[in-house]
Amino acid sequence: MKEEWDVIVVGGGHAGIEAALAARRMGCSVVLISAKIGRIGELSCNPAIGGIAKGTIVREIDALDGSMARSADSTTLHFRMLNRKKGPAVWGPRVQSDAKEYARTQQRHLRNSGVTIIEDEVTGLDGLTEKVSGVRCRKSSSIKGKTVVIAAGTFLKGRLFRGDEHWKGGRIGDISADSLEDDIVRRLFHVERFKTGTPSRILQNTVNTEQLEVQKSEKTSFTFSYDKSMNNGLEEVCYVTYTNRNTMEIAKDNLHLSPLMVGRIEGTGPRYCPSYEDKVVKFPERMRHKIYVEPMGYKSRYFYLNGLSSSLPREAQEKIVRSLDGFSEAEIADYGYAVEYSYFHYTEIDDTLRLRKTENVFAAGQICGTSGYEEAAGLGLIAGANAGRVAKCLEPLSLSRMESYIGVMIDDIVSKGADEPYRMFSSRAENRLHLRQDNADRRLHNTGELFGILSEDKSELLNGNLREAGRIKVLLEKEIVDGIRLSKWCRRPGTSVEEVVSAANSLAGIDEEVLKSVLLDEKYSGYIERNLRRYESRRDLEKISLKEISSYMEVEEICWEAREALEKSRPETLAGAERIPGIRPTDLQGLLIYLDRRRSTWNNARAGEI
Ligand SMILES: Cc1cc2nc3c(=O)[nH]c(=O)nc-3n(C[C@H](O)[C@H](O)[C@H](O)COP(=O)(O)OP(=O)(O)OC[C@H]3O[C@@H](n4cnc5c(N)ncnc54)[C@H](O)[C@@H]3O)c2cc1C
Repeated sequence: MKEEWDVIVVGGGHAGIEAALAARRMGCSVVLISAKIGRIGELSCNPAIGGIAKGTIVREIDALDGSMARSADSTTLHFRMLNRKKGPAVWGPRVQSDAKEYARTQQRHLRNSGVTIIEDEVTGLDGLTEKVSGVRCRKSSSIKGKTVVIAAGTFLKGRLFRGDEHWKGGRIGDISADSLEDDIVRRLFHVERFKTGTPSRILQNTVNTEQLEVQKSEKTSFTFSYDKSMNNGLEEVCYVTYTNRNTMEIAKDNLHLSPLMVGRIEGTGPRYCPSYEDKVVKFPERMRHKIYVEPMGYKSRYFYLNGLSSSLPREAQEKIVRSLDGFSEAEIADYGYAVEYSYFHYTEIDDTLRLRKTENVFAAGQICGTSGYEEAAGLGLIAGANAGRVAKCLEPLSLSRMESYIGVMIDDIVSKGADEPYRMFSSRAENRLHLRQDNADRRLHNTGELFGILSEDKSELLNGNLREAGRIKVLLEKEIVDGIRLSKWCRRPGTSVEEVVSAANSLAGIDEEVLKSVLLDEKYSGYIERNLRRYESRRDLEKISLKEISSYMEVEEICWEAREALEKSRPETLAGAERIPGIRPTDLQGLLIYLDRRRSTWNNARAGEI
């Protein structure tokens, strides 16, 4: 056992894994402490990775050499490119994974990387809040570390609910991190409560799949990973069924038993992913809701009912499930439930994912107020990399919202927080024509190098892609088709990649994936350039730091509402202030005047001293 680790990671979920691996790739000594080793990397809810915007995050994680993409590729059972009817900028690759195999693969990545794994419960931070010395554990007492990443997911004072049953736990069969939450609150961190829920799992052999719509996997050579990591070659079909009038009536009859409706759960849940009982209340006129029936793994015994999350009592869940076409004989293996948990209020976290009250503690994953495996993994990677930097006495780094969805997510959650578990949507990214799944490698290559988190192999691969893209761009400028430069010719509406390739002799034999991606860059270049210009002018605002303002309540140049909003959010820069709801251009002007006045007073005072 080491005397002092560079980085201690608390939690072996999606955030903790990427945090530990990123710090390890930087050459740090890393220990990951998780309550149950066998459950590291578990997909707590649906057995799927990716989706709209989320799929792009997975590509970004891969471009930064994280492990999520490779594990998803090697455990894929079913693939769909979502949003294909819309432009490629918002296409969302999504796979059904073999849930058990996914977790095992992630555990293997951790072991192979040299991360030390300890099975224990972390009960608190050790030392002063401003600079902690490590963590306290239930069994192994104190473990010392230069930095700590807290990635405790839904476990901080986790409470589980189903009808009138309620018990402690971060998810079913797991601990609740009550002691860690107590310590966090004792150290005066501001935490709040969110909730989420999961549907029941059904025994496959009790379902009549002949009555269900079949949804086959798309044939594709797509891989999340730029390494083109191997797909396992296995395939499963998914199915679709629908709720009906009977399903709705059963839910309505049981609403008075819902822990949410009777006020036993206080935390806010995700509006974009409501429980079935929420849907019945919010859309009383809509009887038919689509339910995706997804296998939990290859030749698994269980189906996951995507869209039928519920925390109603067991009997009500049974009736609801059996009201679906194909499910009249269905047996539930695991009942749905809701979980309520604490998370850090956004004002506690800075744009490097460091907790503001400390020098050396970072937060990642669901405890930052987000929801979803991909969001957690993206945050984990950056928190781990920054913990690694602090352990090496380097300044932590932040990401721009112009270059990645991960950057958009961090900026959103630390500058304005969320009033429900935050999930990534493409509409959150103003630069989404640039933030595509196909070009994550080129967008994030510099960031990866800057953090020092790319392995040699990855760096070489990404450099190769960059060189190839550069070569294609030169060819597009050189070749003339129908009297027009190819770079312009390919921008004509409706021009396909195949047409471009057959029109241009010089493009024969070029890697099709890189070529398509570069052509999309060309196609959207007008928008992207306009966006960048807008961003450049905003960057001036990014450069103006507000860190020297100790209390906004004293800034007389702005209105009271703005003072209160700014004091609550404490943005790092003028650009951050601009994004806070309710802050007007006149308030930004007022802040500039205040800063000028403050600086000239200070300069005059210094001149007087000299
Ligand atoms: C019931 C349920 C339903 C969900 N539904 C959805 C959904 O519909 N949609 C969606 O996008 N997401 C859903 N999620 C959330 C999804 O599981 C999370 O977003 C994702 O797993 C978060 O990853 P994470 O790494 O932050 O935390 P987790 O995956 O929760 O991992 C946390 C890890 O920390 C460990 N840990 C916690 N506290 C301690 C401690 N004190 N000491 C040691 N180890 C500790 C745990 O053992 C675990 O390994 C749901 C989660 C649950 C539990």
